[in-house]
Amino acid sequence: MTDLPALRPGLAAFIAKLPKVELHVHHVGSASPRIVAELAARHEGTTPVPADPAALADYFVFRDFAHFVEVYLSVVDLIRDEEDVRILTYEVARELARQQVRYAELTITPYSHVHRGIAPEAFCEAIEDARVRAESELGVALRWCFDIPGEAGLVAAEQTLDIALRQRPDGLISFGLGGPEIGVPRPQFQPYFDRARAQGLRSVPHAGETTGPQTIWDALRDLGAERIGHGTSAMGDPRLVEYLAEHRVPLEVCPTSNLVTRAVPTLAEHPLPAMVSAGLVVTVNSDDPPMFGTTLTDEYEVAARLLDLDAAGVAALARAGVDASFMSTEDKTRIGAEIDAYAG
Ligand SMILES: [Zn+2]
Repeated sequence: MTDLPALRPGLAAFIAKLPKVELHVHHVGSASPRIVAELAARHEGTTPVPADPAALADYFVFRDFAHFVEVYLSVVDLIRDEEDVRILTYEVARELARQQVRYAELTITPYSHVHRGIAPEAFCEAIEDARVRAESELGVALRWCFDIPGEAGLVAAEQTLDIALRQRPDGLISFGLGGPEIGVPRPQFQPYFDRARAQGLRSVPHAGETTGPQTIWDALRDLGAERIGHGTSAMGDPRLVEYLAEHRVPLEVCPTSNLVTRAVPTLAEHPLPAMVSAGLVVTVNSDDPPMFGTTLTDEYEVAARLLDLDAAGVAALARAGVDASFMSTEDKTRIGAEIDAYAG
């Protein structure tokens, strides 16, 4: 972060208390050392993950991307029964609520958990229990995006769609596609997105994170993308930029994630300012926050520094998140008004 201009005075405190929404954050990827310690303690003796929070802080220091994937998978492996799912989901909501997040669309990969033996009904019941409790106890509304882990191919696509449509948990609103982009062409997933969309699910695939603008075109044309997860490479194609601006397709920008995964070489070179100058709709999000050593609040600070924003500019960014979300018009109006009242 040292390569960015300083935050304007007083802005850190403003951002910390600003009501926000989060549109691009992963379920397992949100497991903080505190949550992981709790899960590891439930399975002590059968996991390499330490149950001691201090040891976990070291465990979360990644040597490289391959090590990050190894740690991520060892955390996935801690989600063994529905109680683990319930704990993870509720505790993620607690950490969102602490950052004044009022509404979050959480990307969940049910395939990974069902594959490890949790029944789809039990899985969906557990996330729904956590959602209902989080809304009443913590004041944060959670919604689900069920995503296909692209690296697991069409079998995973079929199963993810099947779980989504058969279980159809109340909080489910969208269908996504994650995992590596290189070597995983987007068009092959079109039939699954077609079926999901025909059943009323919104389309929010990851695209253009580690590959070029063509992947974003594929997401728009073949998968009917209504928002783009990342879209980091969009600026490389002027026609695409024009299309995204004209059709007001929001990008879910996650700056620190892009740095950690080396999608951008430095934060100072992040395309966010160019996206804004080109008139694109951008939202700020955190992706896998504890694993990337960040929080949504931190990402707002990064964006404020990249864009040299004042309080009104940061509030406008928060409003853009509200507008780009899939919440009801009434909820948009309510949270938008809350942001306006806070920003004065
Ligand atoms: Zn993501």
